[in-house]
Amino acid sequence: MTLVFATNNAHKLEEVSKILPSTCCLLTLRDIGFNDDIEETGDTLEANSLIKARAVWDFLQIHPQTQSIDGVFADDTGLEIPVLNNQPGVRTARWAGDEHNDAANRQKALRLLQDKNDRSARFRTVITLITYKDNIGKENNPIAAQVEGRVEGRMAEEERGDGGFGYDSLFIPKGYNMTFAELPAETKNSISHRARAVQQLSLLLV
Ligand code: IMP
Repeated sequence: MTLVFATNNAHKLEEVSKILPSTCCLLTLRDIGFNDDIEETGDTLEANSLIKARAVWDFLQIHPQTQSIDGVFADDTGLEIPVLNNQPGVRTARWAGDEHNDAANRQKALRLLQDKNDRSARFRTVITLITYKDNIGKENNPIAAQVEGRVEGRMAEEERGDGGFGYDSLFIPKGYNMTFAELPAETKNSISHRARAVQQLSLLLV
């Protein structure tokens, strides 16, 4: 089956294609000529991943060259820190300002957690799949299905490690003493929120 993954991020594409069944052919937004900015106006990860998947699905309906495509999926990820009322959540990418700035976001996390004993945190990824396929929907009657993946852990006292991206140098997954940025990429990719969400997505596709 051919699916569009609503991203142009090569790292995400590689990570996700390793987990999905090999019978799955993945296309990116660039591959289908989708160049619009999708405004993520939702209040939740669930809402934003649906907004993204729906925008691409609607695009496919008016572009006949994409008729062989069976479905679309989009992901949305948030870091949730219980002692900060589950912030940054839906604002994870732009927590420190309107521009996406990973370094400033990490500094903000360290600052707000400075006097906190409870440093527990989790990453959560929600994936929305929209498809016609009869294993989960009916011909000409598209349905949207959502799956979630999460990884529990805690926020480090200082940045550690050079690998990864985003908040990786601050996040220590449960059962480990190293941050995601210190752990080998294969380890992170086998336990991460995104990997777990994609494993759930695979179950919908068999
Ligand atoms: P997105 O929904 O995948 O764009 O992720 C939103 C934000 O979450 C990004 O800007 C990253 O800073 C952060 N993020 C997502 N996935 C990870 C991860 O695996 N490690 C660290 N930060 C992440």
